Amino acid sequence: MAYDDDNVFAKILRGEIPCEKVYEDEHVLAFNDIAHMAPVHVLVIPKGKYVSMDDFAEQASDAEVAALMRAMGRIAREAGVAESGYRVVANTGPDSGQEVMHLHFHVFAGRRLGGMRRQAGGSE
Ligand code: 5GP
Repeated sequence: MAYDDDNVFAKILRGEIPCEKVYEDEHVLAFNDIAHMAPVHVLVIPKGKYVSMDDFAEQASDAEVAALMRAMGRIAREAGVAESGYRVVANTGPDSGQEVMHLHFHVFAGRRLGGMRRQAGGSE
């Protein structure tokens, strides 16, 4: 799938739509999800134009991959949830329900998040 410059996270990166910024560096922007599903619900995105995890894993530089992973660890530590725990999710493609076609990692924390079985692969 080709990258669409009109997706909502592209607009946030260009400053056309506001966001509650949590973290930023050369390769990464992180901001609160507009419809948070946990007390901590941060979206961590690469600044590069990657549609999905699949695209990122194949095309991104080592520096971009490392920056994203380190940013998520840092965000969790700074939110005070590194010890209590958190969940990272990257919906990828149609079966996952990915809505925004710019790669994003959800970081959920701040409450007991419940089991993964039904969400991740069990019968519905
Ligand atoms: P997906 O279902 O693609 O994994 O998740 C997309 C996420 O983006 C959703 O959790 C949704 O609430 C969030 N989102 C959509 N539009 C906006 C927006 O304009 N601002 C912010 N901060 N989050 C958004």
